[in-house]
Amino acid sequence: MEVELIAVTKYLRGNGTPEELLEHAGRVCYRSEKRGEAGSFLQARIREGHESIIEHASLTYEISGISRVCSHQLVRHRIASYSQESQRYVDLSDPELVVPPSIAGSLTAMEIWDDLTGRMREAYRDLRELAVRKEDTRFLLPNATATRIVVTMNFRELRHFFRIRCDRAAQWEIRALAKEMLKLAYQVAPSVFQDLYTEFIGEDTADA
Ligand SMILES: Cc1cc2nc3c(=O)[nH]c(=O)nc-3n(C[C@H](O)[C@H](O)[C@H](O)COP(=O)(O)OP(=O)(O)OC[C@H]3O[C@@H](n4cnc5c(N)ncnc54)[C@H](O)[C@@H]3O)c2cc1C
Repeated sequence: MEVELIAVTKYLRGNGTPEELLEHAGRVCYRSEKRGEAGSFLQARIREGHESIIEHASLTYEISGISRVCSHQLVRHRIASYSQESQRYVDLSDPELVVPPSIAGSLTAMEIWDDLTGRMREAYRDLRELAVRKEDTRFLLPNATATRIVVTMNFRELRHFFRIRCDRAAQWEIRALAKEMLKLAYQVAPSVFQDLYTEFIGEDTADA
């Protein structure tokens, strides 16, 4: 999978960082003056549950090479915007497929996988030759089919997403995706994502 951060909210004052914008939004609530760095102010607001202030900044990611299983789980998160590659308009007679490690690690399982996915590719092409439209041949495609999607989430929703999708209860693929997204979010706004970064990325070596 590839995860790229392609846009970040820009504050039109100060140094332009999203953390400064969020701090400003918070200080408007209390008529308080800026003191020191934005970080400690934001962490205190997040700890006390005053999280609406972190809705003012968003990140946009471009994600490719995840399966339709993973993208389906992703788009269940409603406080977000999505633009996904269409299986209706894009020809997928030779689709990239995401193979789960439990299957990729077994020769016998891979034989079963290759047999079925090979027949699927053939059937897709045969139907296209019969002039069946892509919007209908796509009904043959498996959940494993790789997809590309642009996702925008505000910081509050990102924190919620990371909390449940970086967790061990989440499936391996969306968990790997969420962790890559968290690493990028942490680089942009460490004070907002510090606790989650420590909790979920700090454990990476134990996961390996
Ligand atoms: C381990 C795991 C297993 C899962 N298994 C299944 C499954 O078997 N079947 C299945 O269908 N789904 C499953 N899901 C998906 C899950 O139920 C949610 O749909 C998904 O995680 C999106 O999260 P969300 O609803 O919290 O929040 P988002 O859509 O990200 O919204 C963020 C928050 O906004 C609030 N919110 C948003 N919309 C509403 C609303 N309409 N009413 C009230 N509050 C709202 C909630 O507080 C919500 O947590 C699973 C998720 C996980 C992590």
